[in-house]
Amino acid sequence: MSTTTHGHQFINGSYRVGGGKTVERINPATGESDGSIDYASLADLNDAVNAAAAAFPGWSKLTPGARSDHLLNFARELGARSRELAELETRQCGKTIRMSTEFDVPGTLDNITFFAGAARHLTGLAAGDYAGNSTSMIRREAIGVIGSISPWNYPLQMAAWKILPAIAAGNTIVLKPSELTPGTSLIFAEAAHAAGIPAGVINIVVGAGADIGEALVRHPLVVMSSFTGSTAVGRHIMAMAAETGKRVHLELGGKAPLVVFKDADVEAAAHGAVAGSTINAGQDCTAATRAYVHVSLFDAFTTRVAELMDSMILGDPTDPNTDMGSLISYPHREKITAMVDRARAAGATVLAGGRAPDHPGAFYRPTLITSAAQDSEIVQAEVFGPVLVALPFETEDEAITLANDTPFGLAASAWTRDVNLAMRVAAEIQAGCVWINEHIPIVSEMPHGGYKASGFGKDMSAYSFEEYTNIKHVLISHDTDAHKQWQNTVFRQR
Ligand code: NAD
Repeated sequence: MSTTTHGHQFINGSYRVGGGKTVERINPATGESDGSIDYASLADLNDAVNAAAAAFPGWSKLTPGARSDHLLNFARELGARSRELAELETRQCGKTIRMSTEFDVPGTLDNITFFAGAARHLTGLAAGDYAGNSTSMIRREAIGVIGSISPWNYPLQMAAWKILPAIAAGNTIVLKPSELTPGTSLIFAEAAHAAGIPAGVINIVVGAGADIGEALVRHPLVVMSSFTGSTAVGRHIMAMAAETGKRVHLELGGKAPLVVFKDADVEAAAHGAVAGSTINAGQDCTAATRAYVHVSLFDAFTTRVAELMDSMILGDPTDPNTDMGSLISYPHREKITAMVDRARAAGATVLAGGRAPDHPGAFYRPTLITSAAQDSEIVQAEVFGPVLVALPFETEDEAITLANDTPFGLAASAWTRDVNLAMRVAAEIQAGCVWINEHIPIVSEMPHGGYKASGFGKDMSAYSFEEYTNIKHVLISHDTDAHKQWQNTVFRQR
């Protein structure tokens, strides 16, 4: 992958060739070689963390307005590279150029301008004379060097979600993107530097999770680990961070339910289910994966979903007419194929897809499965591919119980025209996001984050500052007495 001829590490404002091994990359949509990536050595990682530590005092002391100006310049600089970013995102992930152009890149640019504004609007309790002769106030302070680790499904957006709130709040950062998809994270950091964000504020190190990722979490100068990825790795990171008492922020896996009540618009629900389950080839942590459908609508819903899925065009992701690109890799397709095969063997019915198309590339047809048991693997475990399971229900209580019946709690949707029912469901479903008559839309102003095994902490929105700032109480006495009244509790006035 020719992101740069100067290496795949961006440290202290410049590219370098990493001192670790060099690994060949495969374009997942063609199966062909796409150059190679140099991995960071532990010395490179150390340099990146030291650069971030050295940049922290200056960056954290800038006024919010100055940091905001930097971010606005950055948005313009990155925006000028939109086409290049979209093409690279498609090449490294196999996702369609429509997704890269209309979702990944504009979403990232919107995030930058949102955080440029949010940097100037940190919130807290009003200062007040809560203890009588003194005034209490809140300071919200940057915490230091953040170590972040991101996944391969939306590499550019995940880098943005990790980096932007951290630096907007005055922190500096070392990000380790997925080793499968580092290209757009590198351009992100390069453009930030070109826009005037000082060297060392954003550093990118590329390498495998088990060595560079773990070393980043364990590094003594890193004060916080923020992670987006699988639940298993997230829990491992939490355990490592516990060794030094680091703060952690975990955005983990999902298994989102899509609940279709008996008064729903079936056509709208079917379209929502297909778009929601096949977005990014189903490699989306909030993708619709379990459709619970009122028994009276079940046949109409599944027939329509299968028809829409069968009509989807798979193929060259650079062709604007393609609906669904490839998966991230051949090994990932093998994992998905095996899960669908096990569901079939256990008695489930495959109404659409359930197979790879017969052309090169790591593609898998959009798949609809019925008659699976609620406690089976295909219903309970994250597939992370274009696979939707549909199951019938009869009562509202049953639907909510089924929707909540997995370890995960990232997102969910409910389809109904009854506002009272919609409000009950929004309250009862255990997930960080509940859509009503929609599935997928996200906005920079609203938080994204999980319940249960989907993690904790929020990306995007003003809530993300809770992760990346320390809150300090400052109390200023204006009591002129040498011996304060409350001190009598400790020792009497003398
Ligand atoms: P993953 O957990 O395998 O890898 C994520 C990142 O962690 C990569 O950069 C990887 O190199 C690194 N890593 C792996 N092992 C590590 C270790 N031992 N120590 C430190 N770092 C390590 O996940 P993935 O396959 O890249 O991404 C898919 C997963 O991400 C899915 O589970 C998906 O649901 C989740 N995801 C969640 C969100 C969210 O916001 N909740 C968003 C996107 C993806």
